[in-house]
Amino acid sequence: MGKFSSAHMSLEVKTLLQNLIRIPSVNPAFGTAEQGGEAALTSFLQDFVDRQGWPWLRQTVHPGRDNLVAICQPTQPDGSVLLWEVHQDTVGVRGMRIDPFGAEESEGRIWGRGACDNKGGLAAMLAAAVRAQAMPAGPTIILACTINEEHGFTGARALAQIWARDGADVRPPPQTTGPLRCEVLRQLLPAAVIVAEPTQLQVVVAHKGSLRWRCHTRGLAAHSSQPERGRNAIYLMARVVTAIEAYQQEVLHPRSAAALRVANEEDLCRPGAGQRPTGAGLPSGSSHRQAAPRPSRGQAPPSCGRSTVCVSTVQGGVGINTVPDQATIEIDRRLLPGESPAVAYQELIDYVAEKCHAWTAQADGPGSRSLSDAGTSPPVSLIEHEPPTQQSAGLSGGLNQDLGNRLAAIVQAGGAAGELIGVPYGTDAWVFDKLGWPTVVCGPGSIDQAHTDDEWIAIEQLEQATEVFYRVACGGLSD
Ligand SMILES: [Zn+2]
Repeated sequence: MGKFSSAHMSLEVKTLLQNLIRIPSVNPAFGTAEQGGEAALTSFLQDFVDRQGWPWLRQTVHPGRDNLVAICQPTQPDGSVLLWEVHQDTVGVRGMRIDPFGAEESEGRIWGRGACDNKGGLAAMLAAAVRAQAMPAGPTIILACTINEEHGFTGARALAQIWARDGADVRPPPQTTGPLRCEVLRQLLPAAVIVAEPTQLQVVVAHKGSLRWRCHTRGLAAHSSQPERGRNAIYLMARVVTAIEAYQQEVLHPRSAAALRVANEEDLCRPGAGQRPTGAGLPSGSSHRQAAPRPSRGQAPPSCGRSTVCVSTVQGGVGINTVPDQATIEIDRRLLPGESPAVAYQELIDYVAEKCHAWTAQADGPGSRSLSDAGTSPPVSLIEHEPPTQQSAGLSGGLNQDLGNRLAAIVQAGGAAGELIGVPYGTDAWVFDKLGWPTVVCGPGSIDQAHTDDEWIAIEQLEQATEVFYRVACGGLSD
């Protein structure tokens, strides 16, 4: 089998992508009201799937912000079910050097916000599903276009509620609208999930999770000509920030280094280490449906890098001549697959409290008045951590090795790299991994161009991805 030749469909997927880019779908967390959130794109997608005759439903996640789910019908379903998930939202457009919604074509690329993250993947999945409809048989594909991936994963989490159970009890189905009834959809249990994100058609089987929260320090305001009458919240915050930096160096760094050493040793001990993971160079005449070699038992998932923490914003004080009585930082902690968000949150809080204890315990530090002197009763906590504003587990790379190998074989058969990799950034995939469904992340375009001021995607890659998804839709993951 040669490289993909897809000239006959290039116009279709490229034009589709241009249409998608021209419909702004900036996540409201990053955009203005005029850019409208995902609603206009959801309407376009609803019309699109309706014209194909695919049953669909809308699931309202936040006011005016709906997941759109459709069942792409093969002529003859082969009994298996796949979930294709792709997010509708993009990041904002401030500071972009190109027309964000122009969707211009030049240099073999399509340019605009969302070109690679994530409308390229969306266009490729839509085009592939349309083309696969003509096939005599294939898996049933659930296409889920979710909202709000870029700011909290709430679309994917709401989608997962459709299939959620409490122990043996199935929960009542969420409220939805549209011709596809939620009770019907929940009967279809996906055997595999592909989440579209710009991975350059590498197959991501592991990625980090994240945990974000705000931390405040409290002080006492006073005239800055007499700072000894106040208590400087920024001075305390400086100690908190220094403690977090030390936590990265003293706790996370050695722990990650030890984990990486173990992973590398396991990798070196693995039979076939150093070879490409799957069947690149399939014998001529073999079908693209041929399964890749199975991973050996105990194969370590690819590395996602290190556990990290970053203080990413800082604010405090009210004016240059006032001792500040409050300061706030935002903390972004990235978790390796398997790390518990709750444990990671508490561990950092405890570490900071201990490192700052000498300072916070001082009733009357040098140049500082205690809060109790100022009549605050009961005494307030000088360091206060809000509950997390966002938390997501990582993609753990356990359940999905077989799926990853099979998808990689399809990608490689078309001439793209298609290796199994781990990545540091997060995606919606962890939500489905938690349901126990084998899940991988794969799509056209590079994460290097995602969120940039001149976002683009290579048309050739867009076409390759469409071909990969088409082969999957034709049953390419099964033997
Ligand atoms: Zn994305």
